[in-house]
Amino acid sequence: MSSYEDSYLNKRPQELCHMCGKCCRVVTTMRPYSELLELQKQGEQAACEFLSIFEPFPSIEEAKKADKGTVENIIEHLQADGKYDESKVTFYTCKYLQDDNKCSIYDKRPTLCRHCPSTPWAIVPPGCGFEGWLFMKREEDKERVRKAKEELLEMEVLKKRVTNIETLNKIYAVEHKLQRTIDLYKKYGSENW
Ligand code: SF4
Ligand code: SF4
Repeated sequence: MSSYEDSYLNKRPQELCHMCGKCCRVVTTMRPYSELLELQKQGEQAACEFLSIFEPFPSIEEAKKADKGTVENIIEHLQADGKYDESKVTFYTCKYLQDDNKCSIYDKRPTLCRHCPSTPWAIVPPGCGFEGWLFMKREEDKERVRKAKEELLEMEVLKKRVTNIETLNKIYAVEHKLQRTIDLYKKYGSENW
């Protein structure tokens, strides 16, 4: 199986980025700010890294002043996924983003920046150069899941014809692998694809 780096990260066409700085100007996290602070105290790497560059906006209205379109886009996505809770959402901005939209620590920027957008399912700002490419990658993920579902159905038919225990065990192993593929995308709605 290819690694995350080989199958996704290294394939991102960097030339699609038009360096608008939007993904640095306004971001949010799935974890509430209070939880991030707690994790930072415990030394959790991802929380420490995130809070080493991002500072919270005092309110959603302040975040909207920085980039209304991006804030509303994030809220819409979270609402669509049933994950929006205004009392728990904090927006952040990066302290290293310059007025010319360039990163002042580009050569030393943390891993989370180097990995952005980190999955085809990442919410990117409206107009981000990666939008079309990410859409295509999401379609590829959906196709992979649909194929796994088809093969699971074929396994069901096959099981009815097989009596040999060894062959049956092989079928169970294949089924397990196919189900894992479907489960991998569950948080993105793979059950409905
Ligand atoms: S460190 Fe640089 S690349 Fe990372 S979010 Fe800040 S400005 Fe953007
Ligand atoms: S929002 Fe998209 S196009 Fe703009 S800097 Fe970030 S990755 Fe590049």
